[in-house]
Amino acid sequence: NPIIQIRQLQKRFAANGTDIVALQDVDLDIAPGEFVTLVGASGCGKSTLLRIVGGLEPASGGSVDVDGQPIAGPGIDRAMVFQHYSLYPWLSVTDNIKFCRQLKVHRDVSTLSDVESAEGRADALIRLMGLSHVANAYPNQLSGGMQQRVAIARALMARPRILLMDEPFGALDAQTREVMHDLILHVSILEKTTVLFVTHDVEEAIYLAHRVVLMAPRPGRIAAVHTVPLPDH
Ligand code: ADP
Ligand code: ADP
Repeated sequence: NPIIQIRQLQKRFAANGTDIVALQDVDLDIAPGEFVTLVGASGCGKSTLLRIVGGLEPASGGSVDVDGQPIAGPGIDRAMVFQHYSLYPWLSVTDNIKFCRQLKVHRDVSTLSDVESAEGRADALIRLMGLSHVANAYPNQLSGGMQQRVAIARALMARPRILLMDEPFGALDAQTREVMHDLILHVSILEKTTVLFVTHDVEEAIYLAHRVVLMAPRPGRIAAVHTVPLPDH
């Protein structure tokens, strides 16, 4: 069964009298544990699709189901990571990662168990993301790559089943991006996280994905889907 089921998704924006069709008739199923990349030219609706799945934006038509349930706004089962890290500058790395514990107020049953302490989970993520040596540092003391590691750790804190990433490595230099690619693949497997990843970089899309979804603009739609062959296929 798909963890994400998108059916006939539509999104229109009204922009001074004219309608922009940002998404038209988008159908997509994503399996649990799959790593799917959305790639395409600027303006083809990648970010809009991701934001709708994340519950940050309402659809104009169609449906998005997660685990067979229609989404209703943001949920702790879906964490988002953006190009800009948006860390809290006044909190240490460790406290930035633990902060999302506050989301507990609107958590559902599927999240952090009460036996797992925030400290334990944060420590595990700090090790997993290679942040041990900067655990007490503050965001402005870190490189972009390290800040994005913190943002990813924070996103994973409540054990989301789905990680939604919008050009997360777009601001990083080529060498750092390569390191981050291998890290996010490793982490998504270990954490058993389903990933939907937006990029305009075709090479990045193919390197990371089990499946590459190519989008096209005006109106934003899925133009092609390519399954990347695995070595053991
Ligand atoms: P991409 O992420 O592929 O670059 P977007 O999802 O950002 O594409 O945008 C798709 C289309 O929808 C573009 O034409 C964009 O200008 C338009 N759009 C996105 N957000 C808004 C908005 N809030 N208001 C009006 N138009 C928007
Ligand atoms: P990205 O493509 O990386 O998502 P954009 O610069 O296209 O970044 O969009 C940033 C923000 O501006 C988003 O919230 C998007 O919805 C909004 N936006 C994009 N295009 C338009 C537009 N034509 N009119 C109004 N808002 C827009």
